[in-house]
Amino acid sequence: MSELNPWKVAQKQFDEAAEVMGLEPDLREVLREPKRELTVHFPVKMDDGTIKVFTGHRVQHNQARGPSKGGIRYAPDVTLDEVKALAMWMTWKTAVVNIPYGGAKGGVRCNPKEMSQAELERLTRRFATEISILIGPEKDIPAPDVNTNPQVMAWIMDTISMHKGYSVPGVVTGKPLEIGGSKGRNVATSLGGQYVVREAVKRVGLQLPGAKVVIQGFGNAGMYSAQFMVEDGATVIAVSDSKGGIYNPKGLNIDEVIKVKQETGSVINYKDADRVSNKELLEIPNDILVPAALENQITEENADRIQTKIILELANGPTTPEADKILWDKGVLILPDILANAGGVTVSYFEWVQDIYSFFWEEDEIRRQLERIMQQAYYSVMEKVDSLKVNPRIAAYILAIDRVARATKIRGIYP
Ligand code: NAD
Repeated sequence: MSELNPWKVAQKQFDEAAEVMGLEPDLREVLREPKRELTVHFPVKMDDGTIKVFTGHRVQHNQARGPSKGGIRYAPDVTLDEVKALAMWMTWKTAVVNIPYGGAKGGVRCNPKEMSQAELERLTRRFATEISILIGPEKDIPAPDVNTNPQVMAWIMDTISMHKGYSVPGVVTGKPLEIGGSKGRNVATSLGGQYVVREAVKRVGLQLPGAKVVIQGFGNAGMYSAQFMVEDGATVIAVSDSKGGIYNPKGLNIDEVIKVKQETGSVINYKDADRVSNKELLEIPNDILVPAALENQITEENADRIQTKIILELANGPTTPEADKILWDKGVLILPDILANAGGVTVSYFEWVQDIYSFFWEEDEIRRQLERIMQQAYYSVMEKVDSLKVNPRIAAYILAIDRVARATKIRGIYP
């Protein structure tokens, strides 16, 4: 059971990488625990006049390289251990792409699908107030995550600004453009992944034009990824969402699939394809597999039947450690989540920089800077793969842990 606890998984991954890199025991002790964990229980007035008490968390795992960064999720099953794990993963993600941040995460246990907009606004403003002792442009900067969006970020920004008496746009990222959001944020995760995969194909002797691509999940990450793949000449042969998948070995018309998804709510209503289950979808032979939905999709159970050359992990945690090993031994190049989907936090970083400067970039500037950062991160990870003979996930962890450990050591232990 403890294996399924995300915090135990995160610590296990850390321990494994720390062991391979020979990290000194003192630094291991420091880095394997979060710096701060805040739990708040707070009342919210519901539309029917009753008062409900909600529980929320904000965890700051590490701030050695800069203010901590990480999203806030709203979900009925949010736990402190989950938020701790996500905070630790953010520390490694920001370090892999070498942006001057640490890692944090937040969450509120609630069911946003059963709440009105007014209730969500009151919950958000009160939660922002409860965690205001921790967040700020120079300390800790939240962003959207599961079930939170630019509107929720706008409420947090406004709440903190009301407390201060002046506008504080840099307190959150993922804001609407009208109040200091960044151009290019919506496509950032998929585009960052595309910059990585453009380099990765060279390593396995593949070319994007003509490559067969399968994508699980057709939301923000999966849908834009399908578009970028087609722009690069690849053929997207199967995609899915929570209702199921569609498959046509000759290729799907992605513009049409997007239209069908927008009009009917699911990709399964697209006509020119066979229906497949999400399980079957992962086992369709292809060149590039893009998990862009949920965690734990590629496991010990199905890893052997997966026939692909590259896995681009746009989702967080889609592959279990056991599956990693099976696929790496089979010669599959896994582009791990903390590298592959780091484009999102990278453009969040650009948003924060623009807010602080009060000077906003055009989209081509955002893309140019994102490409540079993603390419550097990819080649830094692959350099570790080749020099240490480890799989790309362990390599990415080692690269990240080394950067955070160096910063911690140089700063020294206070007092
Ligand atoms: P989203 O809510 O926009 O889309 C999720 C998609 O997955 C939807 O199409 C949904 O129908 C589908 N889905 C849900 N259950 C499924 C199932 N059982 N099988 C197949 N598909 C299913 O979310 P998103 O922002 O695209 O995020 C997807 C993943 O990418 C998550 O793991 C998220 O943490 C990760 N990610 C997203 C970003 C970002 O900027 N959006 C950044 C980093 C990581």
